[in-house]
Amino acid sequence: MADPARGAVRASRLETFHRILRLEEARGYDDRAVMGGLDRFLAAWRQELEQAPQGSLLDHLSRLGVFQGDYAPRTVEQRKSWAGRVLEDLSSAPDAPTKAKAPAYRPRKPRAAPPGHSLDRPASVLPGVGPTVAGKLEKVGVQSVRDLLYHYPRRHVPIVWIRDLAPGEEQGVVGTVWEARVVSRGGPGRQSAEAVLSDETGNLRVVWFNQPFVARSLRVGGRVFVTGHVRVFQGMPTLEGSGYETLPPDDETFRPGRLAPVYPSTEGLTQRTLRRAVRRAVDEWLPRLEDHMPQEVGERQNLLHLADALAAYHYPVDGAARDAARTRLAFDELFLVQLCMLARKADWQKQGSSIQVPVQEEVLRAFLDALPFRFTAAQDRVLDETLTDMGRTWPMGRLLQGEVGSGKTVVALAAMLMASAHGCQAALMAPTEVLAEQHYLTIGRLLEGFSQPAQEPNTLTVTIGPISRPIVIALLLGSLTDRQKEDVRQRLKRHEIDIVVGTHALIQRDVAFSRLALAVVDEQHRFGVMQRRALGERDTRPHLLTMSATPIPRSLALSLYGDLDVSVLDELPPGRQPVRTKWLRPDQREQAYRYLRGQVEEGRQAFVVCPLIDESETLQTRAAQREHRRLSEEVYPDLRVGLLHGRMSLAEKVEVMESFRERELDILVATPVVEVGVDIPNATAILVEGADRFGLSELHQFRGRVGRGEHPGACLLQADDPSPEAQGRLAVLEQETSGFRVAEEDLRLRGPGEFFGVRQSGLPDMKLAGLGDLPLLGRAREEAARLLAQDAELSLPEHQALAEATEPLRRALAEHGAAVE
Ligand code: ADP
Ligand code: MG
Repeated sequence: MADPARGAVRASRLETFHRILRLEEARGYDDRAVMGGLDRFLAAWRQELEQAPQGSLLDHLSRLGVFQGDYAPRTVEQRKSWAGRVLEDLSSAPDAPTKAKAPAYRPRKPRAAPPGHSLDRPASVLPGVGPTVAGKLEKVGVQSVRDLLYHYPRRHVPIVWIRDLAPGEEQGVVGTVWEARVVSRGGPGRQSAEAVLSDETGNLRVVWFNQPFVARSLRVGGRVFVTGHVRVFQGMPTLEGSGYETLPPDDETFRPGRLAPVYPSTEGLTQRTLRRAVRRAVDEWLPRLEDHMPQEVGERQNLLHLADALAAYHYPVDGAARDAARTRLAFDELFLVQLCMLARKADWQKQGSSIQVPVQEEVLRAFLDALPFRFTAAQDRVLDETLTDMGRTWPMGRLLQGEVGSGKTVVALAAMLMASAHGCQAALMAPTEVLAEQHYLTIGRLLEGFSQPAQEPNTLTVTIGPISRPIVIALLLGSLTDRQKEDVRQRLKRHEIDIVVGTHALIQRDVAFSRLALAVVDEQHRFGVMQRRALGERDTRPHLLTMSATPIPRSLALSLYGDLDVSVLDELPPGRQPVRTKWLRPDQREQAYRYLRGQVEEGRQAFVVCPLIDESETLQTRAAQREHRRLSEEVYPDLRVGLLHGRMSLAEKVEVMESFRERELDILVATPVVEVGVDIPNATAILVEGADRFGLSELHQFRGRVGRGEHPGACLLQADDPSPEAQGRLAVLEQETSGFRVAEEDLRLRGPGEFFGVRQSGLPDMKLAGLGDLPLLGRAREEAARLLAQDAELSLPEHQALAEATEPLRRALAEHGAAVE
């Protein structure tokens, strides 16, 4: 009985022989087409054939004079005529190799599947995916067959002819193994695998350093696919193999000119296993995938069919095919997000009306005129956009983006005052207690000229211009005593408070407003809860203004905040000077201390930020206390050094912040709580310890704490043993002062997923839609808007597949709201 594996070896040996002869022809019969010479190759082959059960090929070749072992001593002319004869004979032989041609990939029709086979079946339904592999796949986020189809290659490796291998980027080669052995290479006592491969254009040495086992799994005569980098090694081009896999003889996916996928993987999960599993899924399951894209959209946007795009993205025939596939799949990601975002926006605006807040010119003028500065043009514009929205009967949903220190709070305050002047309430919600207090104190300072004696503790009372009654401003924090909280809640309900500043305590179920017209949310990337539960579940919805100092690229803003209109404060108040940033070597700490002292001697103040230790507030606090003791006793015994950490009571924190503001402290040692919003114009230096532990955007926030007044600021970054990635971040900060570019860089380094904790926000990790895809995003948004205009609920039968495709995203966005609390 014929052994198919043997047959395969035989065929591929023959094929190799064929290629060698062709190569000899091309090289002028120098007997160098194969390493060691043709005779050596033939001797090895003969031995193999002698052991093979069927002797017909051996007989045939022997008769042809193939195994005489005298190629080397012949003249070029003799070699030529012999090779010509042999080639002629071989090409008429029944299993003659045919010239390789890369066919376009077409998914094979699936064999009839039992009914009920859905793409949501576990990946283990695929042959070759047993429990072990399935377990590994789960680690890379793959559970179902569908997940596997969407397990996109991290990159693609070009497959080239041996002749065309070039040093530089990673490349792949398909060849026949004609020798494989273990060698001592790669260092003393080290063993490596070495193989010689050949294809129609030449042969190649491949070395797998320190992986002797590779030699054992390479079958002489078998076809393999190897990847790696070409180096010149002992005077010969050598592929330093990084991966390999044996191919079935009839394989068509690995061909020169095509691209091979490299997948995100995990320990113990080889590319080979992944490729085979994906390949199975592509071949047998993909044809069952329904395309959710409405035909109209697909045609208008010139998109590939979803199944074709997925197949082509895994195994592209060339770069153009990969790009077309990527475009279709990236369009999908953006389109689904936009559908959800625009639906959310419509939902926010349609369900329930809001209070129309007119602009009371006199009150606004009185407020603006009393400020110690004039609004920048950007502030004027953004306030105008905000007030225009608030004058409508449907709720505003606006994102106010602006660089750290661009003056967002004042704009928000103006809007809140308009709401109060109209006899309504406004709320300002901050992410931390420190920041909420800061806002409260800032508001107090900005309204100083209008203030009246307060009636209650934690309350400000102001009268601005011609309004009938004073405006009462209060603070509501989770750390207040229950009695205090209850008191604020009662007064909110009775409308004795007009503006309330607080943390998430504001949106607890037990907080009820009497007439809330405007909700301002600071530095919360999403605000689902705020909208729905606390504020939106009544007939009138408040206008919503959300503020962010994270200047994200427009493409991402539209995806993440696609349900909002965006205003940008793209101008800093005049006189601001960029903060100089310096990354210090560990031995420069003394220098940093001297610099801070110098600033203090000039009448300025400084922050020292303690390293981020872990999630534990207690550890954080202890570290800060230690650092505070060390600085106040050893480094600056003559200066006034304060301490701020998260475990302090509200009263203590307020006291520390106020004494720092009043310049009763020179240096403030703080845990990373000072990240956002803290506003001390006289502070000019910030020393960040353990700077390598922070992300780029966080560090940019820190340096935003200084240089907020008339004096230039400096940010000193201290990192004891930064990783290469951390060094990259620190270098970016040294060079870039613009928050926008820092954020872009941060995104590039971390990817949107991590940057925004996208998983948390309920948005899909956009795997293929890049940041530069603004035009594609525009198209996706336009199509989404167009579709929703026809079918707002996606209830038409032809949109059913699409509705199902958006379902997980909608659910995630809805759930996220609850997850914030
Ligand atoms: P953001 O919240 O955008 O970081 P803030 O609203 O906290 O910025 O403003 C930063 C500082 O700049 C505050 O001290 C604020 O009073 C001040 N400020 C705001 N607008 C102006 C302006 N137009 N001119 C000068 N200073 C301003
Ligand atoms: Mg702010």
